Amino acid sequence: MNQSETQDFSKLPSLGTTIFTVMSKMAQEFDAINLSQGFPDFEPPEALIEAFRYRLSAGHHQYPPMHGIPALRTQIQKKVARYHQVFVDPETEVTITSGATEAIFVTVQALVRQGDEVVIFDPAFDAYAPAVTLAGGTAKHLPLTGTQFEIDVDALTRAVSPRTRLLIINSPHNPCGGLIAQAVLEHIADLADKHDFYVLSDEVYEHMVFDGQRHVSAIEIPALRKRTFMISSFGKTLHATGWKVAYCVAPPTLTVEFRKIHQFVTFTTHTPCQWAIADFLAKDGGHVEALPAFYEKKRDLFKALFEPLGFQLTLSQGTYFQLANYSAIPALRGLTDKDCANTLTQKFGVAAIPISVFYDRPPQDQRLIRFCFAKDDETLRQAARRLETRLNERRKL
Ligand code: GLN
Repeated sequence: MNQSETQDFSKLPSLGTTIFTVMSKMAQEFDAINLSQGFPDFEPPEALIEAFRYRLSAGHHQYPPMHGIPALRTQIQKKVARYHQVFVDPETEVTITSGATEAIFVTVQALVRQGDEVVIFDPAFDAYAPAVTLAGGTAKHLPLTGTQFEIDVDALTRAVSPRTRLLIINSPHNPCGGLIAQAVLEHIADLADKHDFYVLSDEVYEHMVFDGQRHVSAIEIPALRKRTFMISSFGKTLHATGWKVAYCVAPPTLTVEFRKIHQFVTFTTHTPCQWAIADFLAKDGGHVEALPAFYEKKRDLFKALFEPLGFQLTLSQGTYFQLANYSAIPALRGLTDKDCANTLTQKFGVAAIPISVFYDRPPQDQRLIRFCFAKDDETLRQAARRLETRLNERRKL
């Protein structure tokens, strides 16, 4: 098909393959250390794997309930009560999904009608906007502003209207590592009440928050609780992104609509994985409480290793990502972020993600790439050594 035929045929003509797949594939081809796509290179907790082995041998091979096994939904109820002091009914308000990406897609399809507006903050995770387009809605992109990539509350106030059906927020933020403050959530609640829109709150990195800060969930704000689909993921929390087990918390009437779509997208989620996670959480070995310190140490190690190479790092307050400005590095400074990510992967042996792909309209000359620090300390050290050697070689040329 030529370009104009594609334009007519495709429902998403300007969309290619997701950057995460592109960069991970490139990393493999060029044998680069993969700090691009967000996933740990270390194992999930042994107790989780043991629970999985047990459940696999104990006959859990058939369809679970469409909305998830009761034992796991009950654990989510406990987790939400513990970390957010919010009561949710596991039967009518919690749905297990096959990854957060499914939950995002389902939420958007459940809510957005032809012509509805959906407000998205750029840079944004790449799954949001295509889901809106497929639902027949229009994405309205607002830039996050300042060095810490924050929501501009005035710009948001001006952008929303009765045409707004949904606002998508993400905290801790991928790729920028920012947190949404409680006061901003409260402002969003006022706007949502005024214009009667809903909120998709992507909180998959909720347990990776640093420097003694606390992640405030959108559902902690009573006025948002009744309008919010809160999405979180065991893939991130339990170092098991390939298990694809996530969940959506939403009030009963919204959950009814969510499940109408979920039942025909994936219907259910892998049975033994659900049991294993439920068993693991019921034992409560302290894994979740230990996560902030665990990842904060990795963030600090990354900083100690990569700043001396010339990268200027934005403060990462949460997630396992680090934004890096490369404009002070002579060998890289003239490159666009895509060329920089490609060069790093193909010639320097370390893969990263360019940031412009997360924008509808990328700012000119932004020199930012994203690294994932969910890696063994030795992997991070090896990546820094490799970059140092190759940057030095370049200097001598
Ligand atoms: N959330 C992961 C990241 O940002 C990638 C998820 C995916 O590849 N779909 O790197």
